[in-house]
Amino acid sequence: MSGFRVADLERALGIEDAGRAMHELIRELLPFPRAMTGDGVRRTLAVVGRHLPLAVHEVPSGSQVLDWVVPPEWNVREAWIAGPDGRRVADLRDSTLHLASYSEPVRARMTLAELRPHLFSLPERPDWIPYRHFFHRAGWGFCLPHRRLEALPDGEYEVCIDATLAPGSLTYGEAVIRGETDADVLLCAHVCHPALCNDNLSGIALLSLLGAYLDRMRPRLGYRLLFAPVTIGAICWLARNAAVLPRIQHGLVVTLLGDPGPFTYKRSRRGDAPIDRALAHVLRHAGPHALRDFSPVGYDERQFGSPGFDLPVGCLMRTPHGEFPEYHTSADDLSFVRPEALSASLGVVLAAIGVLERDARYENLCPRGEPQLGRRGIYRTLATRGGGAELEQAVLWVLNLSDGRHGLLDIAERSGLAFDRIHAAAAVLREHGLLRRIGG
Ligand code: ZN
Repeated sequence: MSGFRVADLERALGIEDAGRAMHELIRELLPFPRAMTGDGVRRTLAVVGRHLPLAVHEVPSGSQVLDWVVPPEWNVREAWIAGPDGRRVADLRDSTLHLASYSEPVRARMTLAELRPHLFSLPERPDWIPYRHFFHRAGWGFCLPHRRLEALPDGEYEVCIDATLAPGSLTYGEAVIRGETDADVLLCAHVCHPALCNDNLSGIALLSLLGAYLDRMRPRLGYRLLFAPVTIGAICWLARNAAVLPRIQHGLVVTLLGDPGPFTYKRSRRGDAPIDRALAHVLRHAGPHALRDFSPVGYDERQFGSPGFDLPVGCLMRTPHGEFPEYHTSADDLSFVRPEALSASLGVVLAAIGVLERDARYENLCPRGEPQLGRRGIYRTLATRGGGAELEQAVLWVLNLSDGRHGLLDIAERSGLAFDRIHAAAAVLREHGLLRRIGG
């Protein structure tokens, strides 16, 4: 596996613009009525499965998974409120955000005063629809722009929520791409949010293209791409994959990767795992970014990083959850996520994977004094590879630190040079018989 750039992915997949392709995938997935369970998730996974070898798993309602129980399955066919004049005040067909997720079925007529406690809006953002759910308590509700809510006249309203909350299953998808080693990388996106583009669809789109690419390559590491509802989905996967867990050497939750904000990487619970060092290194050379320490708040890094598992799983985002006004509202839409931001996010993930794939320790076979590079034709080779003075420096760093204790990422960190340069220098030195790989 040699290519780790968006351009290589585009070539391998035969697409012109990966950012545009991800944006189109988000557009296609946008209307499905995703929730913690149900057909919205299945329809989403069916589309994802066109891109990569996805196995869809169903976990029956009522199953005990770790300390949790899989909830009843929720499906909705239609949901609307009709005003006194018969006109629709809110309709699921216009936006899946109008209905609070996991709302109980309702068919009733009521006054505005009776309806009012079931209506949610954002007074400070009067044109946006909020995202609400009833995952953890019984109830029902509709979400609508505050401006529309304020204008509702008194009178009799008709409410229809044609939904079922009944024994069924929880659905998640997993694509397993075998590597040459028995070490795996776990990559995870959540699939339980309705029409929100950055919060869940950006991660789904990125993993779909990445998975399609990895499936065409011959990676050294194995990859497990998990598309699951947040929290309970990760818990189901952990409960059902005890035999796989020792293989998971690196992990990353990908979410909120389409907005134009700078990158944020949240370290795994371990804090200094190879995935943490790989992301820190890639972002340092990619531009403005922030690194945060692990906390048990956020996405499924909490489950993977619970003390009984302690898997090295970090989380890559742009602007973190709750830190941008569009978060969990209808303004997290197709215009909020940008093809160029999606493409750059994919580039960072590819570069980090490239580090994990190629990091290795080498032994300098001529360690007593510097080897005479000119006599061996190494300067000539370096000139043909481009890279100039930096590549020459990288050669000296690799020779000096390849004492069996330092890997290429260690050398990149210590030298301040990009991993790709260090890797290229090591390749030249191997070709000239000055370097031997340690440990296969
Ligand atoms: Zn969310």
